[in-house]
Amino acid sequence: MANVEWEQVKADMRAAIGAGNFKSWIEPLSLVNTTEGVARLAAPNPFVGDYVGKTYGDQIIYHLNRQGMSVQRLAFEIDGAANTAAAKPAAKKPKSLTADAQPDQRFTFDSFVVGKPNELAHAAAKRVAEGGPTTFNPLFLYGGVGLGKTHLMHAIAHELGEKRPDLNVLYISADQFIYRFISALRDRKMMDFKQHFRSVDVLIVDDIQFLEGKESTQEEFFHTFNALVDQNKQLIISADRAPGEIRDLSERIKSRLQCGLVVDLHPTDYELRLGILHAKQETYVNVYPGVEIATGVLEFLAHRISSNVRVLEGALNRLYALASLVGRTVTVEMAQDCLSDILRASDRKLTIEEIQRKVSEHYDIRLSDMLGPKRTRSLARPRQVAMWLCKQLTSRSLPEIGRKFGKRDHTTIMHGVRKIDELRQSDSQIADDLELLRRALED
Ligand code: ADP
Ligand code: MG
Repeated sequence: MANVEWEQVKADMRAAIGAGNFKSWIEPLSLVNTTEGVARLAAPNPFVGDYVGKTYGDQIIYHLNRQGMSVQRLAFEIDGAANTAAAKPAAKKPKSLTADAQPDQRFTFDSFVVGKPNELAHAAAKRVAEGGPTTFNPLFLYGGVGLGKTHLMHAIAHELGEKRPDLNVLYISADQFIYRFISALRDRKMMDFKQHFRSVDVLIVDDIQFLEGKESTQEEFFHTFNALVDQNKQLIISADRAPGEIRDLSERIKSRLQCGLVVDLHPTDYELRLGILHAKQETYVNVYPGVEIATGVLEFLAHRISSNVRVLEGALNRLYALASLVGRTVTVEMAQDCLSDILRASDRKLTIEEIQRKVSEHYDIRLSDMLGPKRTRSLARPRQVAMWLCKQLTSRSLPEIGRKFGKRDHTTIMHGVRKIDELRQSDSQIADDLELLRRALED
């Protein structure tokens, strides 16, 4: 086939897919020959061939045929080599890959304290870190802030670095991924971007809830994801909630995420917090020589600071710093004093709004109906349940509660509370509901 015809096909493709895509994907190709319905195209690397074949293959075939060729299939060659399948992407690490793959030295499996709430996540992370054949893909870790997701992910990267130095391991947070994607689009470097992410052996993406509402980035993430999973490359992903609960995440991504192993890190319990504090204390011995901590202090912290491990560590750190300054043994009184702000913030205060929200969810009614004027049984009963819970679980007065229930009078609240008090005795369904809701709210 004459060059002029290929030039025409290229011009048609440019018109069809736009100058940007054309420049990245079609321009680097050249036509080698066409025989027996197969058009052979030379691509600069296997990735381009692969991508073009999947994305633009049909269009190219169409335009070749319009130029009078009878082509049914495309075949890509790389640097004169025979086919795409045999040629692997370059094995050497791109520079930036090495740069962002440095795991945080503090976050290792050794420094991770295992307890009931995180034992599954820990076991799964350990398994992946062995670097053996992939048994579950992706590993999806989720849980609230400060429960150790990032720690575990770095630990995996760390251990793989030691056990399997031959593997390309990339740790990246989802917002870095978004940033890189946008920069690549802007700088017309999509090809480098794709190749960069698709040449890794283990991809670790932290905090993917940041992809919420970012459609085009999600699309790219999805392609990267599929490309790696198809090649049996391990993916490890984290978010602050379960895949199904991430808003605006495309259904395709959700279902792919759920195909692997989904493990959650539960909120810490007292034993785990105490264990973490003891482990931390050992590391402080060298940093703050001579500082003494009275018995009962760690227990006090583990009991009072239940929000997240980061805050817990911060508190211990502050105590040590103070103790070394004043040269005294840290006592519980001193801890109370020096950590009063943290302790206050950790005292969980339940709000009327939270209660209303939880109760409307439980009974599957709209929040606006709970607060609104309608008095049908199906709305009035949940409303009274919410009033009762507000009275029991908060320190708000009846008039204050009334105001938050669509400006109702305090006598209405009183009536509602009494009604539920009565029903609790006679109606076991209501009694169960109250117990369930109370536990959910106090958790
Ligand atoms: P997340 O990513 O879930 O928000 P991180 O992994 O950043 O939480 O953890 C917050 C801090 O708590 C880190 O300093 C981490 O080392 C520490 N931490 C969390 N869980 C544990 C644990 N089980 N053992 C030791 N340290 C922990
Ligand atoms: Mg994190």
